[in-house]
Formats: sequence, C-alpha cells, structure tokens
Amino acid sequence: MPGSTAQQRGKQLPPGVKEIPVVGLLDQRVAYENRPPDWPWIMVPMGATRALALGPASTAGLFTRQVNSALPFTLKNLDDQSMLRGGYYAARISGNHLFITGYLGVSNAPLDVHQPGAQLRIWVTIKPRMTLPIVVHYVEHGPMLKTRTTPDDMRQIIEYANRILVPQTNIRLQLAVQSVLSHERIGKRLGPVIRYDPERSDPDNEWDLITKHKITIPAKNMEFAALNVFVVRELNRQGKTNDAGAVSSGCCLFEDRVAGKIRNVQRGGRILAHEVGHHLHHLAAERDARDLGDGDAQRQRRLEASFLAAEEHQHDDSKNVMSWSAGGDRLNRAQIEKFNPTSPYR
Ligand SMILES: [Zn+2]
Repeated sequence: MPGSTAQQRGKQLPPGVKEIPVVGLLDQRVAYENRPPDWPWIMVPMGATRALALGPASTAGLFTRQVNSALPFTLKNLDDQSMLRGGYYAARISGNHLFITGYLGVSNAPLDVHQPGAQLRIWVTIKPRMTLPIVVHYVEHGPMLKTRTTPDDMRQIIEYANRILVPQTNIRLQLAVQSVLSHERIGKRLGPVIRYDPERSDPDNEWDLITKHKITIPAKNMEFAALNVFVVRELNRQGKTNDAGAVSSGCCLFEDRVAGKIRNVQRGGRILAHEVGHHLHHLAAERDARDLGDGDAQRQRRLEASFLAAEEHQHDDSKNVMSWSAGGDRLNRAQIEKFNPTSPYR
C-alpha cells in the first residue's frame, strides 16, 4: 500500500527497526502476495528456485522505508548465507537478491532476513508437484451434432491451462483418456444445445444422461481424482453463470464454441483452468468433510455449499481464474492453499 508503514499495516517490529522492502520478483509475478495476513508470502514449487529483490526503497515512491543498500543482507543465525529451515527450503543471499529453493511441502514457513537496523520476515509456502488426470469425452449430441473441438485443440487448451496452473499451484493437468461419446451410447438424440439445470429441477435435465459415461481413474497416492471433461457444442446456461462449463462430481460439461468454432485456445485454456478450480474446490470440501468427520447429511450440505458457484467465484477481481467471467490467469493465496494443500509450518 503506497505510503503505509509496516507498523500501520499491523506488523510488530522492534523500535527503531525498519522493514526491508521487497522491490521485485526476478521471475514470474505470480504466486506472491504482499498483503495481510503473514506477508510477504511466496509459493515456491518443490524442487524449484525463486528469487526476490530486496530494498533499497523504490524511487517510484512506493516504499517509504529507506533501507541502506550498501549494508549486507544476512539470513538469521547464519555465516555462510545459506540455510535449510527444517528441511523445507534452502535460502541464499547474493547481493540484494534472495534465492529460495523448495524441498518439502509446507505452508507459511518463516524466512528472516536481517540488515543492521532493518529486517524482513517472508512467509514461504512450498507446493509439491501434483498431477490431475483429465478424461476428455468428445460428445456427439445427435446426428451431425458432434463437438467441433479436435484432439489437437484439446491438447493446446490443456497446455494453456497448465501455463496458468503449474507456476501458481504446481498442479499439472495430464490428458489421461480420450473417448468419443456418440448419441447412440447416450441413448437419446439431444438437440444442438444441451439442457443443463444446476439445480436439477428440470425433468429434461440432460446432465445425468451425459455424465453417467464418466470414466473413473483410480487416484494414486497423493494424486487427485480425475476430471471428466465432456466437450459439447453448447449449453443452456440460464443466465446463472458465465461459465462455458459446469462442474459436479468429477464431471464438467465444456462448450466447444469457446474452443472449436472460434479456435480460441487461450479462452478455452482459461475456462478449463476455471472448471479445474471448481473441481479442486469440491475435492477440498470432500477432504474437509472427511477430516471433520461429517455425517452423511452434513457432508452432503458441505458439498452442496461448495457447488454454489457464488461461493467460489471471485467477484472483485476480473483477472482471477475464478472470476465470474473466467477471464483471468491469476490465483490468490487462499486458492493456491486450497487447491494444493500442505501442512502449516510448526
Ligand atoms: Zn465457475
């Protein structure tokens, strides 16, 4: 926040001690937050190294805390400028650059940097690399009503979604199975627009007819349950959401007019990343239900609450992946922690 001091923002620094400002990231500007609580916060993928530039105060006037850049930065209790915090990460200082390498999954491990009269605590989260299997069904609603999305479109859409998800969550989508779902297998000739009612009150709801063809891939240890993506020509979205998709129970209907007709891989990739976000939210709700020992009714309520789009959609940030319009590439700290959870540092 321009002009605010660490104290004003609620940090406890000893009297007379300034806060060393972070003046930039040396890599991508994602998976980093400089706002409460416990800030600055950075996500480092396990096995990868990220780097921050520390003070002096920016000439742009963004930072008011003058830090003397001629004095060396040091890491606490350390002579050789490298350290391993509980085996979770290693950190190293070179000039005013701080390098952090992730070793073990953890959330919010503190990293303290010192300079005479100044200090900085950075909260480091290390995310393990996870794989989310994707099953793609190319749906033929009826005669001559086959999805226009091709396997090559889908490969590019998944690639674009990975450009969003991998650097921010360390979760990679992997195309596991591809299948053609004909109207004969569906057992009904569906119209050009799939009737989908998120509240399940429409007796002509075609969601179940399609998603019963879901292919289950047993989740390996530490891996996520697959997301079944049924690529259809068009959905009736009833104005409830701008999603060109719909997610529930490991299934997603995905409109091809974002990908096939317009051939907009970027838009398709953003929407896929968005639907994957819903899927990961649901998996998190299932995890919570299990961890909190919910009974059946409680569990059902929790899952239903997580299906309510309004809970997951970011209304205040149009650049967020989970924005209402699925128009962004960015995930926030809470989403990253929810999608790829790690134990808090103790
Ligand atoms: Zn959505």
